[in-house]
Amino acid sequence: MDRVDAVVIGAGVVGLAVARALAQAGRETIVVEAQNGIGQGVSSRNSEVIHAGLYYPPGSLKARLCVRGKELLYALCATHGVEHRRCGKLTVANDQAEVHALRGLADRAHANGVPVELLDAAQAHALEPALRCIAALHSPSTGIVDSHGFMLALQGDLEQAGGMVAFGSEAVSARLAPAAGEPHVLRFADGSELACDLLVNAASLHACGLARKFEGLDPRFIPREWFAKGNYYALAGRSPFTHLIYPAPADAHLGTHLTLDLGGQAKFGPDIEWLDVHQPEQIDYRVDPARADGFYAEVRRYWPGLPDGALAPSYSGVRPKIHGPHEQAPDFRIDGPAWHGVPGLLNLFGIESPGLTSALAIAEEATARLLHG
Ligand SMILES: Cc1cc2nc3c(=O)[nH]c(=O)nc-3n(C[C@H](O)[C@H](O)[C@H](O)COP(=O)(O)OP(=O)(O)OC[C@H]3O[C@@H](n4cnc5c(N)ncnc54)[C@H](O)[C@@H]3O)c2cc1C
Repeated sequence: MDRVDAVVIGAGVVGLAVARALAQAGRETIVVEAQNGIGQGVSSRNSEVIHAGLYYPPGSLKARLCVRGKELLYALCATHGVEHRRCGKLTVANDQAEVHALRGLADRAHANGVPVELLDAAQAHALEPALRCIAALHSPSTGIVDSHGFMLALQGDLEQAGGMVAFGSEAVSARLAPAAGEPHVLRFADGSELACDLLVNAASLHACGLARKFEGLDPRFIPREWFAKGNYYALAGRSPFTHLIYPAPADAHLGTHLTLDLGGQAKFGPDIEWLDVHQPEQIDYRVDPARADGFYAEVRRYWPGLPDGALAPSYSGVRPKIHGPHEQAPDFRIDGPAWHGVPGLLNLFGIESPGLTSALAIAEEATARLLHG
């Protein structure tokens, strides 16, 4: 049986970032990926927004790793030529309750070390003439990125550091090291096995289910998974906006917001649709055109000019949730040996948004927990 220093399960943005960090730390590293290409999972079904770090509770991993990940991501984009734009974002208020919500968001942003500026209606209108609002919160460090270009850059760095990605390699179970000095043994769908000293589970939607197949891991360290779909609707014609536009947050959901891609195409979403499925294989990614009906009224609160019939079903993505519909979103789980007691094992659970933004910082944190406890 072959033996390597480190195996990372999953070639999404997070798995690739962790593998790159391990390889750059001198570990012989292989990423095993069930599909035949990188980034075929959640990483290719998101908004491609570089989040500033406004929303997350101060001191949480989400807050800290988003802010750090954003800096690292902008730097990597610059050094590796990954297409991106620091376009900024406006979160808008149309009544006094929403103005109050914006002030709360501004306080949280300051606590997280994120620059923001409260604008009155005239200032917001000067930036975005098509916008209707009585106040807005401007976040200049929010941006957009070519997520596939980002992942190709990570794969390039990984390979340059001597690592590799093995495609078509579906991990099905593992026997975790029974004693110090012995390796973990990972088993694949084709019956083959691979031994390693460090094992990282970055399987995202599959992470909890796969962890249940790790012999030697106490099940109380594995959360229950939930799947929450986000549907996107593309705007026909040119975008009237150059910033990302979000309504003031009313609950845990960010509201029906407008994001842009690097080609200037605008889309609305993702909404949130909790799925009644127990396995990722049961997910239906088709987008129901009828769900757009509810978008029009919400969007016209801040963009009255939205024409009838302008929204077309686009794509969807599914959030790897570890909490149910009526529970507060928990923090990222980066479970290392100090938590579950298994040397050389790291499980990543609940890496939903802002996982793309945070990937490089998650990799720093994961490597530190794995290598230094
Ligand atoms: C609708 C939506 C919008 C989002 N928008 C944003 C955003 O704008 N900004 C942001 O920062 N974040 C955003 N996110 C979050 C971000 O997309 C994710 O946090 C990130 O992509 C997760 O990356 P990952 O590598 O953990 O998962 P994935 O990309 O899903 O990678 C996991 C990989 O593991 C592989 N795999 C699974 N099981 C196995 C197995 N048994 N053996 C081998 N391989 C396996 C899969 O094939 C897959 O390639 C969004 C998420 C969603 C759902």
